[in-house]
Amino acid sequence: AVNLRNNIQRVEYLAHVDGVTGLPNRLKFSNVATQLIDLSPNADGGMIFVDLDRFKAINDMHGHVIGDRLLALVAERLSDLIKIFVDGRFQCKPFVARFTGDEFIVVLPGLSDPDILKELSDLIVRKIRMPFRVDHLKLMVRASIGVALYPQDGKSADDVLRCADMAMFTAKGGGRDQTVIFDESIRQKADEREKIERCLRTALDHDELTVFYQPKIDILTGQIMGSEALLRWEHPELGSVPPWKFIPLAEECGLMPSIGEFVLRQSLEDMNVVRKQGCDLSVAVNVAPVQFQSDSFTDRTLGILGESGFPLDKLELEITESSIMEDPQRVYRQIVPIRDEGVEFAIDDFGTGYSSLNTLATMPFDTLKIDRSFVMNMAESEDRRVIVQLILMMAQQLRMKTVAEGIETRGQYDHLKAWGANFAQGYLWSPPVPFAAFRAMVSAGLDVDDADGRSGELRA
Ligand code: C2E
Ligand code: MG
Ligand code: MG
Repeated sequence: AVNLRNNIQRVEYLAHVDGVTGLPNRLKFSNVATQLIDLSPNADGGMIFVDLDRFKAINDMHGHVIGDRLLALVAERLSDLIKIFVDGRFQCKPFVARFTGDEFIVVLPGLSDPDILKELSDLIVRKIRMPFRVDHLKLMVRASIGVALYPQDGKSADDVLRCADMAMFTAKGGGRDQTVIFDESIRQKADEREKIERCLRTALDHDELTVFYQPKIDILTGQIMGSEALLRWEHPELGSVPPWKFIPLAEECGLMPSIGEFVLRQSLEDMNVVRKQGCDLSVAVNVAPVQFQSDSFTDRTLGILGESGFPLDKLELEITESSIMEDPQRVYRQIVPIRDEGVEFAIDDFGTGYSSLNTLATMPFDTLKIDRSFVMNMAESEDRRVIVQLILMMAQQLRMKTVAEGIETRGQYDHLKAWGANFAQGYLWSPPVPFAAFRAMVSAGLDVDDADGRSGELRA
């Protein structure tokens, strides 16, 4: 009987303790949190959700054994500092658990003062920032933290957890390495995100996505030489959703590869029509970072290009500077076979992604697009003017063509022309417009003096 009891205890122990950190595991957390929250309607307290930033990178670089030992050290530091913070100051028995992977969760029964919880969470963020020693390695991690209160934010453990998780997500989105306390505006944003995501899943099938075109001007001649294809989404209920709102979501929920392929197919089809009219125009299509992460990107893209019958030397693919820098080798491997077919490649939003010059010089890019934030502030700031000139000089040295984005005034245009930029895009000529309008614009021809007076009307 003794043996049996020992065995039962042993099984119980194993079922409730996380082997890596020695902390209570998720199952145990769930039991305890239900007791503390769901089954104690008069109780109050706080819940702190800790998510490590960059932990995956450490795991990938040093292996799981080191990763596990780091997690054990984080768990120890976390438990110790919470104990010290609470001891003697508050009547509270903190409960610390490992949730999943690199996530920890702390319940503080009786402690529901947001200021104190914020003080504790900020302390956690600061302490986690200090290096950990594993063997001879000095490892650095950071933490993003979300805090929720009960019963204020939720009456069940599940609800409180969801709030703490949403707050943590907000902390990550706000640049990581920080604490966010849950409030209703966070729930609203999360709900909106969810709604947009749900609608986005059916947007392609419901024909809600279209491609607009913004003319690209040859600075020397002032003539339209091509366009940039820009995605637009019009939902019957949500109205028109701007790309900065839905493209990151599409990336996260795995829809971007198919949406990206739609844009490419559609632009080539549209531009074939324009070419049949006798206009020798090029087109630039944006490629999202996640599209490169798929191994099939190169083959699928080549497939679409082949089917289109579009002259490939008239196509340019744009990749943002920051996504190139994430994994330059991978980008290199993926684009070389496409470039071998004659397609050109542009670095988009240049100046915002901290390229190393070395990477820039060795990557197979043809064009550099100067981010519009530089162009737009040129009038006010000498610094901006100098930066734009330096970028143009550098591009010339690297034998790359240059496109200046976001030109809105005649003054900006004159500067860029004098400094030798090759191409330009901006409201000075036209905002992105539907295909039919773009065709009309191409047939009519376009020059700045003409556009100057009309740009306000075109924007509407
Ligand atoms: P981007 O590729 O840098 O595109 C240029 C953006 O600047 C466009 O915004 C365009 O409307 C805007 N713009 C152009 N001229 C002016 C100007 O004179 N003044 C101002 N204030 N803005 C100007 P849009 O269409 O809202 O697109 C935003 C971003 O969304 C794009 O930045 C691109 O990163 C992304 N995006 C749009 N369509 C696609 C797509 O099909 N695929 C991918 N992966 N990303 C896309
Ligand atoms: Mg672009
Ligand atoms: Mg850009």
